Amino acid sequence: MIAPLIDPFARAITYLRVSVTDRCDFRCVYCMSENMTFLPKRDLLTLEELDRMCSTFIGLGVQKLRITGGEPLVRRGIMTFFDGMRRHLDAGTLKELTLTTNGSQLEKYANDLYAAGVRRVNVSLDTLDEAKFAEVTRWGRLPQVLRGIDAAQAAGLRVKINAVALKGFNEPELAQITQWCAERDMDLTWIEVMPMGDIGNEDRIDQYWSLKDVRAKYAEHYTVTDLAENTGGPARYVRLEETGQKIGFITPLSHNFCESCNRVRLTCTGEIYLCLGQEDKADLRAPLRAHPDDNAPLEEAIRAAINLKPKGHDFDYSRQTAGGQMPRHMSHTGG
Ligand code: SAM
Ligand code: SF4
Repeated sequence: MIAPLIDPFARAITYLRVSVTDRCDFRCVYCMSENMTFLPKRDLLTLEELDRMCSTFIGLGVQKLRITGGEPLVRRGIMTFFDGMRRHLDAGTLKELTLTTNGSQLEKYANDLYAAGVRRVNVSLDTLDEAKFAEVTRWGRLPQVLRGIDAAQAAGLRVKINAVALKGFNEPELAQITQWCAERDMDLTWIEVMPMGDIGNEDRIDQYWSLKDVRAKYAEHYTVTDLAENTGGPARYVRLEETGQKIGFITPLSHNFCESCNRVRLTCTGEIYLCLGQEDKADLRAPLRAHPDDNAPLEEAIRAAINLKPKGHDFDYSRQTAGGQMPRHMSHTGG
């Protein structure tokens, strides 16, 4: 028996989020500046290295993989990676293979993803208004994403919508977005803006719409019941009694979820980040590349990294400054 990954606070690490690229075909205002400098290709893990890395984590007890980025589906050849992970699903060691995407390439890849064993996707979508969509994503086009969502559902993938709550922006659309999700049988989760990376001129305090306020807004129209459900992550759920819908709230800034954290993040350059809101990290690329035929040093490096997992994070907007600000972009560690 191989010992599972347990961190210093007795949390079992069973969930790995993997950023497979820092690149993206969108430039969402809260995520990237318009002129991003991306990493040189040699720094990225190759598809074979990504496979070896993920397979090693699975060997150490990781049961759920979420592929993210940047935009994961713009990484060239990425379906080869998904196809490769299928063997772990078939073996029963991996319980879930999933991804977070902006949806732009779903029309092209939905069927292939299903064939690789993916059953659920999270699609990020903040507005149903074409002009506003172009404004918030800068380079994205809504019809393309909607076609992607259609294709995903037609392929048999369960779609969850993630919307970043932006004050004065999608606030007026709350009811419309909620109803649209209900009609299409999609779950909906609201995310609070996090202070990640330098994004140019946007002011985070201006963007910040507290999910407490979102919840209060729901309560004006619906009977809102809190659900006890806990996925080990930052999401909390409520049910809207009138529609039966489950709505998620990801509130890293106003809610403490760290005690049940079961996840770590791998960047596209092979660094492991132990917490979304802390800088604790370790390099796994060096042991991986130095020992192409021996996995023991990589396993050792992973165990040593897990020992660095901090108890929690310190994001704080309470004094009207973006306290606990992280210098890295969300696209680096993956959202
Ligand atoms: N490109 C894919 C997408 O947009 O779904 C995957 C990567 S993206 C970084 C993952 C998630 O992070 C998206 O739902 C996005 O809205 C969210 N995100 C990006 N920057 C954020 C920020 N500063 N605060 C909160 N969420 C953010
Ligand atoms: Fe790209 Fe996703 Fe960041 Fe938007 S949120 S710029 S789609 S990585």
